[in-house]
Amino acid sequence: MTPATKRRVSKPPLELGELEHESAHQETRMATHITEECINCGACEPECPNEAISEGDEIYVIDPKLCTECVGFHDYEACQAVCPVECCLPDPELREDESTLIARAREIHKDKSFSDDFPSRFKK
Ligand code: SF4
Repeated sequence: MTPATKRRVSKPPLELGELEHESAHQETRMATHITEECINCGACEPECPNEAISEGDEIYVIDPKLCTECVGFHDYEACQAVCPVECCLPDPELREDESTLIARAREIHKDKSFSDDFPSRFKK
């Protein structure tokens, strides 16, 4: 069991008043994250079209407010494509849909126009 799984399992049920806050928090989380297998090689950082990846305290990290899973730029996740240990992984319990991700790309890159036929791994 991963540490993240343990955290989810041991978390107490939310009280009704906490639901709105928890929902808002989850909206800022993304499906792609870098796991503890990261060897700090730095290969992924320059590949991210959103400059969402940076060196963290212990391993590289992805800023959830900037990650679009490469929707709008590639039909694959560029970080995972170059990672030698393939540790840029989607979390199946934290999926974001394509419309959310392309909306984020459009918000981040206001100077860029994305056609309706934008690249996306969801279209593969
Ligand atoms: Fe870590 Fe993979 Fe990025 Fe290298 S490419 S820094 S191993 S996440």
